[in-house]
This record gives sequence, structure tokens and C-alpha cells, in this order.
Amino acid sequence: MFFEVINFYQHPNFFRGSSPNFHFLALNSPIFAIVLKNRSMSTLRFQALQETFNRKPIAVEENGRRSAIYGENVFDENTMRQSLTKDAYNSVMDAIEKGTKIDRRVADQIAAAMKDWALSKNVTHYTHWFQPLTGATAEKHDAFFETIGNGQAIEKFGGGQLVQQEPDASSFPNGGIRNTFEARGYTAWDPSSPAFIYGTTLCIPTVFVAYTGEALDYKTPLLRALQAVDTAATGVAKYFDKNVSKVNATLGWEQEYFLIDSALAMSRPDLVLAGRTLLGHSPAKGQQLDDHYFGSIPARVLSYMRSLEKECMLLGIPVKTRHNEVAPNQFELAPIFEEANLAVDHNSLLMDVMEKVAARHNFKVLFHEKPFAGINGSGKHNNWSLSTNTGVNLLSPGKTPMSNLQFLTFFINTIKAVNDYEELVRASFASASNDHRLGANEAPPAIISVFIGEQLTNVLHELEGVSTGKLSPQEKTDLKLNVVGKIPEILLDNTDRNRTSPFAFTGNKFEMRAVGSKANCANPMTVLNTIIAKQLTEFKKEVDELIDKKKLKKDEAIFNVLREYIKASKSILFEGDGYSEAWEKEAKKRKLSNNKTTPEALKVRVAKKTLQLFEEMGVMNKVEAEARHEIEVEEYSLRVQIEGRVLGDIARNHVIPTAIKYQNILIENVRGLKDIYGTQFKKVASEQMEIIEQISDHIANINKGVTEMTDERRKANRLEKAGDKAQAYCNKVKPFFEEIRYHCDKLELLVDDEIWPLTKYRELLFVK
Ligand code: ADP
Ligand code: MG
Repeated sequence: MFFEVINFYQHPNFFRGSSPNFHFLALNSPIFAIVLKNRSMSTLRFQALQETFNRKPIAVEENGRRSAIYGENVFDENTMRQSLTKDAYNSVMDAIEKGTKIDRRVADQIAAAMKDWALSKNVTHYTHWFQPLTGATAEKHDAFFETIGNGQAIEKFGGGQLVQQEPDASSFPNGGIRNTFEARGYTAWDPSSPAFIYGTTLCIPTVFVAYTGEALDYKTPLLRALQAVDTAATGVAKYFDKNVSKVNATLGWEQEYFLIDSALAMSRPDLVLAGRTLLGHSPAKGQQLDDHYFGSIPARVLSYMRSLEKECMLLGIPVKTRHNEVAPNQFELAPIFEEANLAVDHNSLLMDVMEKVAARHNFKVLFHEKPFAGINGSGKHNNWSLSTNTGVNLLSPGKTPMSNLQFLTFFINTIKAVNDYEELVRASFASASNDHRLGANEAPPAIISVFIGEQLTNVLHELEGVSTGKLSPQEKTDLKLNVVGKIPEILLDNTDRNRTSPFAFTGNKFEMRAVGSKANCANPMTVLNTIIAKQLTEFKKEVDELIDKKKLKKDEAIFNVLREYIKASKSILFEGDGYSEAWEKEAKKRKLSNNKTTPEALKVRVAKKTLQLFEEMGVMNKVEAEARHEIEVEEYSLRVQIEGRVLGDIARNHVIPTAIKYQNILIENVRGLKDIYGTQFKKVASEQMEIIEQISDHIANINKGVTEMTDERRKANRLEKAGDKAQAYCNKVKPFFEEIRYHCDKLELLVDDEIWPLTKYRELLFVK
């Protein structure tokens, strides 16, 4: 029998195509029979497809309201209030709100309460949970279990274990801060991010620092930046409300990702090792119909999302929004915004949970910024604002002229900060993987600009005309009624959203749009909050000076300083199309940076101005900033190196042998035709002969490309300085990727589908 029925598949959103290997017979829609034509296809690809066709959605049981399980596995304020003495509770709250130290006796009490709570939930182990500069989260589990002699054992967890641990830190990146013989680093409890239970482990969020005090993680500089912005913003907010004693930065991220069936993903060495496809021809249908965006979510994916959301609820991650993204198999998940440190932790935790839940649903999550050529990549918008302990969003216009002046103050200071440090902002989302996305006409360009909308542009224009020094009563009234007083009504209409802008004001927050989907948000958040802290500190100094020396009234002084800021920040404001060539030219005229690659972009991280900024704001000293730069540059080289190796391997060991196999089939065919037609054979064999030549041509080009790329890699590896090496990988090694890929993809179109070794784009992206 030629056809063999291999499976019946039930799926309402099933891809209704057909492939040369399978027929999908609609028997009784939506039930399909998948009929295999023959089995000569590469075994791995065949098995992967077969496995995928067998998948059925895993039913997710959900009963009751989500709010009922929200935070169930978090040692949060409520749990603490119930399980701690009043003293201990107040001590933790002070630590959270004011950063005060918790003494050892209290730490013991808290540890005991945490242990009892965890044991009541069948937890066996605890871990200090931290975010080293590898980009992943790290944990080392210890059991509560301890022997006490006489064959007896107890569960033990004291303040000492809660507060500090000493993981063997020698193999985490440190940028040369610690010599390996002095590999001592320690983790220390961060009470501002609550402990949580994941699986059977109690996880305690911590910072990770060297014994000599330098930060070795993402969290430490972030906490310092948040402290700096709190101090600076509180100082400024007090001009408007004396009761403000604390300002929190807030963050709401939007996580984009791809979901691929795990069997199919496993069949591609590039997805396994590099997290993205290094070759593969675009499918006939991509995203051009825009039929995926906000479309109905496929059943299998929905069931994954429900499992994931349940885990998030238990962990206190307030996820709220889910939808399809632009590309096929691309999705987005967004939470309700939170205080920035907690939001960063929650995003790191979420990415980990997403991978684990995906494995249960036979999916692989791709966080890479550009897993597939020809269709959109993924990002992670960072929505940011500042919020006071009195409950006011400082970037939200209020009801009175005074509260609007407060809004304008924070609004204009943010613009000024980004204007002065645009290159550093750009560097905060530089990575090998994000390079594929920035400036690729789907994500913001590598040029930083700020979009504020037409109405606010007009407001700034009006403010620019404010007189110098004292204002006349008439001018004050005018400002009150016609400029500052008008803002709320204006913003309600301001729905215009420029998607090409990397830094856009969206009504009551700024949105950083260039952050990569794989990134740890701590990096951009550290930079943003540091430059805002610096800017607000300057602002307060200038306003106070005008009040003291020029005897201006407070609001006069504020208007005077803001006017100068607006004049000074003109180059960063841009309302047009960020993707256009015209903007690139215009930005050059404005002297805005346009660093298209990571090695270029990262240079500013060790510029004098940057080192001074971080030092002055108490965020990083010179050693820390330089070490971090070194780690980022090295990581860039390593990523490109891995991709180069994988691509060379696939091209030489998978693609070329398959092409030769097919070429031999054609050669046999031509020989046979020659037997039959004799000297006339060219009449019937010319097409085949042309393909034979084309195949040889592509093979030669691939071989040449791989050989030259390998040579360039060797040369790059011999370079001593990390910066030079990264430049070489970027400018000498990476250009071969496109070249090699081009010829491999052409072969994919020429060679018989039955023997093609790699799972194809259309199979990865449409088979559910
Ligand atoms: P988009 O149109 O970009 O998809 P959404 O409204 O879906 O925007 O997402 C907005 C995100 O911004 C959400 O994650 C939300 O929690 C967050 N957000 C809203 N207000 C604030 C704020 N004041 N500070 C920080 N993030 C905020
Ligand atoms: Mg957004």
C-alpha cells in the first residue's frame, strides 16, 4: 500500500495545508487524517513531525477565582503579619521601606516563621535566588534537614541562613573582579522582594556580591539606582506636597515570545544551541495576511497559557493580559505594573516558569529576539513611571494647575535625562541577539528619541516662551489657565501612539520599546533610574538656587529651569517615522548616536561621563562598571562564536551531504535518459543538468564561506583585548552568516523535500 494512515488528529485550528510527505484528509471537519506518503524522509524530521501531530492539548483544570490563589506561595506582607511578632514585622517593613538593617535576633524570628510556613506547604529545601550576569537566574538548594546525632534529624533554618550564604561563585562571570583563587562571593537577603515557594523549594531573593563588596549581579546596581531615584525624586516631589517621603519607580513589562512544539525544536540544532534558526527558507505564507495578531489563541497554546497563569497567580506575579502577536506562533504576556525591583524579579522568575510549564505542555519557549528570519522578532517593552508613597503617579497629569506643574516637572526632567544620556540608554539594551531586531523596521531604530505627541509638544512650545526671572501676574494667570490648566483634557485625546519610537510617552508613563525579549530588565531600569536621579538632583539644585539667590517664587523658579531644559532637549524629541532614512539623516545632523552593533554601542559604558555618573549616584564604582562592560563584550563574542560553529556544522554536515545525495539522484536520472535517448538526451535532461550545476555551485559557495568564516574565527580568537575580539566577531565573522545561509536556503528550495534533513519554517511555525 502506498498510503498509510498514521494518525487522526483533532484540532480546530489545524493547519489546513498539505506537504509532499503528508496528506491531511478532512474526514469530518475538524478531524483530519494524516496520511503518510512514504518514509524516506530524514528520520529525525519525520519523528519530530509525527510526534507533533500526535499532540493533544493538555486539559487544564481551573476551579475557583484566581484572586483566591493569588500570592498563595509568597511570604508576603499578609503572611508576615500573621506569623511574625509585631517587632519583627515592623522591622521587616522598615527594611522594605527605608532600607534599614534587620538585626540578628529578628532575622532568627523571621527565619523560623518562614520555615514553619514553608514546611506547612511540604517544602523540603531552601535556596538563595539571585541573578548573576549570565542572564539566567541561579539557585543552589539546601535541605532544611539536619542530623542531630543518635540517628535523629530535624528541620532547621536560622537567621544566619536567611541573611547570608556563600555559593561557590568562581564560575559566574565577574569581569576580572575576583581572582579565581579568591573566589569568594556571597548572597545577601533582599527583604524588599518577598520569599516564595516554587515546587518544593523556598526561594529567597538575594543580591550577589564579591567579598570585597563589588556587585556581581543585576540586582545590586538596580537597588542602588532605585535608592538614588527615590532620594532625588522625593526631594523634587516635596515642592508640590510636603507629605511625600518616598518615591518608587514602577515597571510594567510586556513579554513577547514564540512557542514551538518541543519535538520540532529539538530536531533543529540551531534552535537547541543558539535559540534561533540560523537558516531556513521563508514559508510561502508568513505574517503578510496579519491574520495572527489578536486572533483567537490556538487551543494547545491557550491550555499552556492557563497553566502558566495559574503558576503565576500562586507566585504572586500579577499577569493580566495575553494575546497573539504579529508573527505566527508569537504571543505576549503582560502583568499589572509593580515597584521596579519586584517587577524585575517577577520577570526573571516568569521566564524560568514559562520554560518549565512549556516542557509540561511539550512546547519550547523561544525568548530570542529574532528566532526566524523574515517575520517579526520579540521585544519586551518596559513601561516606567514614578509613584509616591501618597499614591500619586508623578507622570500623570492631575486636576489642579499645581499638580500639572508637578507632572510637567517630572515629564520634562525625564526628557532632559534621556537627551543627555541617549547613548547610554541605547547601550542598556545592546546584545548580540537584540542587534537583529533594532533598526530592522519592526522594532525601534538604534537611534534614541522621545515621542510625546502633538498636544504635549504644543505645551512645551508655550513653556519655552516663559519670561526669564520674575513672571508678571498676567503671565502667571495665563500659564495657569491656558497652559498648565489645560493638560488633563488634552491628554485624554492624546491617543496618538507612534510605534516607531523607542521611548514614547503614553498618557501616564514612558514606554521603553527597544528592550530585548531575552533581556533582564534590570539593566535598562538601572540606567534609566540612574539618569533620572542625576537629572532630578541637578534640577533641585538649580531651582533652589533661583529661589535663594534670585529670590524667585517656587513656581517661577520651576518655570525658569524647565524653560531652559526644553531648549536644551530639542534634539531628542521626534514625532515622525523612526524607521525612515530621512530620520537617520536628521538624527546625524542633531548629533544623536546611531550605534548599530553591540560592540559599538557598549563603548559608552566605560566613557568618562558614564563612570562619573554611576559613581556620583552611588550605583557602580569604576571597577564594577568596567567589569560589567568586559562581561557584556565577552558575551557578545561568545554568542557569535557559538552561532558560527553551529552554522558551520549544519551547513557542512547536514546540508551539503543532503544536497550531494539529491544531486546523485539527478545524475542517475540523466544517465538513464542518456541510455534511452542517446545523443539526443539533452532535449529531455537539460533541466536536471542545470539543477546539478546549481547544486554544485551552492555547495562550492557554502564550503568557501564556512572555510573563510572559520579562518576569521581563528584570527578573532587570537586577539587579546575583549573589545577587539568583539569587533572582529561582529565585522569579520558575522557577515559570513548571511552568505552561507543564502546558499543553504537556495538548496532547501532545490532539494527533494523528502530527504531535506531540517524541519522547515512552515512546519515549525504552523503545525500546532
Ligand atoms: P501596549 O499598548 O503597549 O500593549 P498595554 O496597555 O497593553 O500597552 O500595556 C501597558 C503596560 O504598562 C502594562 O504592563 C501596565 O501594567 C503598564 N503600566 C501601566 N501604568 C504604568 C505605570 N504607572 N508604571 C509602569 N507601568 C505601567
Ligand atoms: Mg507596549
